[in-house]
Amino acid sequence: MSQRIGIIGAGISGLSAAQRLIAAGHAVDLFDKGRGPGGRMSTRRERIDDTAYLFDHGAQYFTVRDPRFVSEVDAWTQQGLAARWPDAGPDAFVGTPMMCSPLAALCERFGVRFATRIEGITGTPGAWHLTTENETFGPYAQVIVAIPSEQAATLISAWVPDFAAMARAHPSQPCWTTMVSFEEDPPDIAPVTRVPGPVLAWVANNASKPGRSGGSAWVLQATPDWTAAYIDLSREDAAAPMFAAWQALLSRPLPQPVLLKAHLWRYARTGEGVHGLLYDKALGLGVCGDWLKGPRVEAAWLSGLELAEALLAA
Ligand SMILES: Cc1cc2nc3c(=O)[nH]c(=O)nc-3n(C[C@H](O)[C@H](O)[C@H](O)COP(=O)(O)OP(=O)(O)OC[C@H]3O[C@@H](n4cnc5c(N)ncnc54)[C@H](O)[C@@H]3O)c2cc1C
Repeated sequence: MSQRIGIIGAGISGLSAAQRLIAAGHAVDLFDKGRGPGGRMSTRRERIDDTAYLFDHGAQYFTVRDPRFVSEVDAWTQQGLAARWPDAGPDAFVGTPMMCSPLAALCERFGVRFATRIEGITGTPGAWHLTTENETFGPYAQVIVAIPSEQAATLISAWVPDFAAMARAHPSQPCWTTMVSFEEDPPDIAPVTRVPGPVLAWVANNASKPGRSGGSAWVLQATPDWTAAYIDLSREDAAAPMFAAWQALLSRPLPQPVLLKAHLWRYARTGEGVHGLLYDKALGLGVCGDWLKGPRVEAAWLSGLELAEALLAA
């Protein structure tokens, strides 16, 4: 029998769950507080005069190892929504022409309701409601929570305190990310550099990814330790020391950037998840996301799929 299911979070895990449930004939409503698709796989657009600058400022690439994800990414590849990125390694893939592209296609198909922050789960088992500051959605036979652990814990603690305790036991590390554009890219810089710290962990040229267009776009990621130590900096104040650390790494000055902006991912990466998914069959409440399976795109996708399978089996 077809059920109406509410899903909080339209990142890769929520979309993966939605895809499986819709394929099985259920009606799904997806909500996301973001203004556009992607979650932590989103792509940031900046514009200066007539030039657009596109930064994959969250996940940089993803691995594709599990046979179920292999066949999903095969489908994305055939639709032009993903491709290999050899500069990051032999098994690295990215969304094309932007990291968020495969998710954007799913969001469009499923009609995600963006800019909608769910603040509460109310009602009774089998007739759940999802509430925002001024709206109520539902009733839903089942609810899926597909958001980072810290945010999930707050939403579910009244209904499934044991799940909330597990979420609190899996905190995320933060990541300051700085986006840099030059009028013309300086020569002789490797497209990908994995840095051992202490400030930076990763430097990459978005233009080296397949299918990219737009102006110069470099992404610098700080280490979790540096980010945690400087988490209270303003965005302006975080960008400058990261840019200086890049110059120090190259042992040469770089040209003046035309764009230098930092973004703080407060809940960037989790540790290895152990539960895979959480599902209370009696309540009809499920939880998925990378924090349950591993700090990777592939793990988040699998967590969503496996939660949907558990729900269908019940
Ligand atoms: C800087 C950075 C670098 C990374 N690098 C890599 C990498 O190289 N390779 C890799 O595999 N992985 C990487 N990751 C991890 C990867 O991006 C994540 O594991 C994956 O995207 C998590 O997907 P998710 O669906 O679990 O969560 P998310 O992508 O966080 O999706 C959750 C969604 O829920 C929404 N949301 C949250 N709260 C609410 C609410 N109350 N109401 C409505 N919506 C809500 C959010 O807006 C978001 O869109 C990186 C992550 C970051 C931040």
